[in-house]
Amino acid sequence: MSFHSGFVCILGRPNSGKSTLLNALVGEKLAIISPKPQTTRNRILGIINVEQQKGRPGGQVVLIDTPGVHKPDSSLGRKMMAEVREALEGCNLVLYITDVTRKFDARDQFVLNMARKTRTPVFLLLNKIDLLRKKDELLPIIEQYRQLHDFKEVIPLSALKRQGLDVLLEKMLKSLPEGPRYFPEDQVTDQPARFMVAEIIREQVLRQTGEEVPYAATVVIEQFEEGPKLTRIAAAIYCEREGQKAILIGKGGAMLKKIGTAARLQIEKMLGTRVFLELFVKVRPGWRESPQFIEEMDWRRQLEHLAGSRIE
Ligand code: GDP
Ligand code: MG
Repeated sequence: MSFHSGFVCILGRPNSGKSTLLNALVGEKLAIISPKPQTTRNRILGIINVEQQKGRPGGQVVLIDTPGVHKPDSSLGRKMMAEVREALEGCNLVLYITDVTRKFDARDQFVLNMARKTRTPVFLLLNKIDLLRKKDELLPIIEQYRQLHDFKEVIPLSALKRQGLDVLLEKMLKSLPEGPRYFPEDQVTDQPARFMVAEIIREQVLRQTGEEVPYAATVVIEQFEEGPKLTRIAAAIYCEREGQKAILIGKGGAMLKKIGTAARLQIEKMLGTRVFLELFVKVRPGWRESPQFIEEMDWRRQLEHLAGSRIE
């Protein structure tokens, strides 16, 4: 009985549907989604366990969602691109995902080059086929991509409408090597709950505020006390300017209340307890240019430091 497993990196430009695909494949909301580019800032693991069936090996697929590939113009952007490179390191398979409604250009070529450099097999995922008026519009697109690289598989799909996902999962398993179960069967991600809570709050900031605030906002959990029935959470939303703070708070606190209520409902669903959520807005000018602050925000580094101090 064979067991296939490995690490599969989802790579693509901002907004191509990487995080939607991760959530759809895992069947749980692990990554936040928004129509705004650069929603995802960290690499996010999603673990899929598949039982063996007739003609299909069982296995474990460890998916890695990544920030969209772009030319960074800040320390934050550079950190996001470092996350992409770390995700690509040592992975067994790359899912190169594109939005079929967008024309291939130099930025797509840049992403494709990154995928090729890994020297691992690359699947081409043509996402958002639900937006095509006629299915035969796909044929010339597929032909065009085939000229660019010898993709191991070409799979049209819709992450949003969950079309083509079974085919994708089957082909991933077949393509992965025989290997061990890397994570326990009941684990779906490596993200700590408090980081997921911070992300849920940030998603509401992205959704409820306009153009300028989302990119300048980040969320830090300052208190996280889990009880059997009630979880107490205090979080700070950092922005860069007083004007952004005013928008985040809103008239008489209305905006902050809206963000808080929407986030709380989702956090309660995730944790399975009632949640008492307190939000603050803080201004930290130019935090996106502060490597030190960005480092502090990285939960993987925080865990390393914790582990390090325990060993000493
Ligand atoms: P990412 O930046 O690559 O992670 O993209 P997201 O997963 O955050 O999705 C960006 C936007 O595209 C969101 O508004 C999604 O709802 C939308 N989207 C993702 N997949 C599909 C799809 O298959 N069809 C359609 N119509 N929209 C999609
Ligand atoms: Mg994303």
